[in-house]
Amino acid sequence: MSTPRYDFHIHTEYLKCADETMKIKDIVKSCEALGITKLAITDHLNNFEKADKHFQIAEDIAKLETNIDVYFGVELNYMGYDGQFAYNEEIKERIGFQFAIGGIHSLYVDEYSLEKIIDIQHMHHIKTCENPLVSVLVHPYWLSLSVFVKNNWPVVNHIKALPKSHIKELAQVSRDTHTGIEINAHTLLLEGFGEDFQRYYEEYIGMLAAEGAVFSFGSDTHTINTLKDIELCFDLSKKLKLEEKQIWKPDCEPMKSQTFIQ
Ligand SMILES: [Zn+2]
Ligand SMILES: [Zn+2]
Repeated sequence: MSTPRYDFHIHTEYLKCADETMKIKDIVKSCEALGITKLAITDHLNNFEKADKHFQIAEDIAKLETNIDVYFGVELNYMGYDGQFAYNEEIKERIGFQFAIGGIHSLYVDEYSLEKIIDIQHMHHIKTCENPLVSVLVHPYWLSLSVFVKNNWPVVNHIKALPKSHIKELAQVSRDTHTGIEINAHTLLLEGFGEDFQRYYEEYIGMLAAEGAVFSFGSDTHTINTLKDIELCFDLSKKLKLEEKQIWKPDCEPMKSQTFIQ
């Protein structure tokens, strides 16, 4: 079976997170060259005030001429430890988002405790999967190395320290809610958390797969030259022999699909 060539996590220049190379028409051109068949633009929505900025993304998608399926998504972030996402049915309808991906982006600890860090991440992973407005849990266990360095905390392989019960619980909730657990190119390339980090990350995805989890692929790139890193996600999927039914895709029609007749 060939691995579906999807990328459902891509940023643009508009929300000031990705650089100026991330223009929608150039992203789509690069994805065409990489043989991607479905992609989603998923820029950040970290607070309610930024929602309207996403209209320009929808406008650009509407102007595209491409044979590949392009979706209009959004990436959500928790507004605080006990916070919610800056998202609801009204915003989804008004802006026209086709689906949302989301997850935790902070550690939420004042002092070092690996166990606490892992538990907080896990609690937010479960909460994200249980949210009916979120289709994909982004980059589980991607952690910001700079926070550890700044605080002089020990940097160890946290994937290696994950309790099996957490992995099992996440796989079950993914399976039950059909929420895609993201295989994220950034996390595959994460450096500093031990030289065998990648091997353990691969094993972690394999354990989730064995428990029946559903996966989504995301480059999560913020600059055009690294769009190609999505290949790492496909390579891992092949290595783990993931089946097509285990790979998440949107259940709606793309915003722009096969409109360009050659
Ligand atoms: Zn993110
Ligand atoms: Zn992202």
